[in-house]
Amino acid sequence: MSSNPSSAQRLFLDAPLSAGVDVTLDRNQANYLLNVLRMKAGDALLVFNGRDGEWRARIEAAGKRECVLALAQQTRAQEYGPDLEYLFAPLKHARLDYMVQKAVEMGVRRLRPVLTRRTQVSRVNLERMRANAIEAAEQCGILWIPEILEPEPLESAIAAWEAGRRLIVCDEAASHANPAEALRGITAGRLALLIGPEGGFAPEERELFTRQPFVTVVSLGPRILRADTAAVAALAVVQSCLGDWA
Ligand code: SAH
Repeated sequence: MSSNPSSAQRLFLDAPLSAGVDVTLDRNQANYLLNVLRMKAGDALLVFNGRDGEWRARIEAAGKRECVLALAQQTRAQEYGPDLEYLFAPLKHARLDYMVQKAVEMGVRRLRPVLTRRTQVSRVNLERMRANAIEAAEQCGILWIPEILEPEPLESAIAAWEAGRRLIVCDEAASHANPAEALRGITAGRLALLIGPEGGFAPEERELFTRQPFVTVVSLGPRILRADTAAVAALAVVQSCLGDWA
């Protein structure tokens, strides 16, 4: 995947993008560009919608509450990162915001909150997660917004597991070993990663995932990492061994 070489401001626009099209921003986006970033008519930026690649755009009209972008040319063809799902036990607010943003920066394609015995939260604000995902996508240069699924019990996710997708489970109780070694035998392709809750996996959960043929259990070293730390550490190992860091 080609990263975004320019440092131009990037904006996600959920609208069709093609040459010569004008796009009128909604109030929040107009406010963000004109009042937060203090951009003005004539300024250029990059826009993407997750389907039509990335386009250079220019602010055509900038009113008090309105902003119209004129699309010029496509700067990058549509592309997606590795087919990597990230399953995680939702955390409390700020830590969940952080975890979602880091997972997006680390290139996950799908975010799957899973409810485990010791998950601290039962309700997840999907709109808040999507806003965090969009902000991280705009910042890190990807051309898609990760799909965010409804929370589901871990047991259901495992029972309905997609054939052909390998699930890498980070288990704090796994014997200390180099995770890169454990991943060496895995074929890159459709992958998923599971990080447990701050309270760790319950014994019956460990028993459940350990016996699945599609699961590879890995250790993240001799220390117990906070779930949001484990997320970044594990995603770094997966992307460097099996993803698009190679
Ligand atoms: N409170 C638990 C630890 C939970 S850490 C305890 O004290 O045992 C939260 C999650 O991060 C874990 O469920 C696991 O998925 C991951 N994690 C943290 N440290 C890890 C390690 N050393 N190896 C593998 N996974 C780890």
